[in-house]
Amino acid sequence: MGAALHLAHAHQQPFKERRPKRTGGGNGGEFATIAHRIYQDARADDKARPLLLAFAYAVTMAPLDEETGVWEAVGKALNPSSYKGYLRELVRADVPRYEAPGYRWGADPLDRRCTGPRMRPHPGGDDDFRNRLNICGAPAQDKVVEKMPGTGWHKNHWFCTRHRNDLARVREQVREQNEAAPDPVPNRGGLLPCYFDSDWVRVYRWALGNDQWEPPVYGYIADDWPVPGQDPVPQKDRLRLVLGGGDLDGAE
Ligand SMILES: [Zn+2]
Repeated sequence: MGAALHLAHAHQQPFKERRPKRTGGGNGGEFATIAHRIYQDARADDKARPLLLAFAYAVTMAPLDEETGVWEAVGKALNPSSYKGYLRELVRADVPRYEAPGYRWGADPLDRRCTGPRMRPHPGGDDDFRNRLNICGAPAQDKVVEKMPGTGWHKNHWFCTRHRNDLARVREQVREQNEAAPDPVPNRGGLLPCYFDSDWVRVYRWALGNDQWEPPVYGYIADDWPVPGQDPVPQKDRLRLVLGGGDLDGAE
């Protein structure tokens, strides 16, 4: 897609008067502060962290001139030889969204295991999960999704073919609750806007290659999402970045 993106530093005016070009070694103190915050951020995974650090570097430290905007500096910090595809992949991983349980293969040992009632002990002994949880535990093909009243988060109830009756019973039990459940609170992505200010909806649309994408009803900033069982994450000052004209075009 040929969408043109370019992040220009919001402090471009005063910064330009002072120094027409930044030749590197910019505001190291500010970079250190942001980098510290990023390393402390438990929400940042192995894709988000290098992306956030590259942005922090580009905004505070990277040599910038008419040829090299913030986006180019971010991309080159990530991968000097071939950055555009990688940059887009990392931004796509930061798209704010809800990921339901079972989305990541192998993340949950009880994924696709029947939760139907166990009639007699499994020969595996007391420590066997089937006996501990008192569930069937057979590989399961069918599930009922239960939507939590407060968050809209999903809970999967899996059933094997021998426990079809239990599946039907649970499906009926959760029907009203599911109909009343809110949109799920996002639980993935949305970290870039926690640190940097920009036209992020446009950026995420570019990363997805989808001009129709709309942010979650809870907003696209992860700091703004309620986290069940945790104190709300305090709002932090964001570094202001402004999208200008410019060119991250052909960023396939
Ligand atoms: Zn079963």
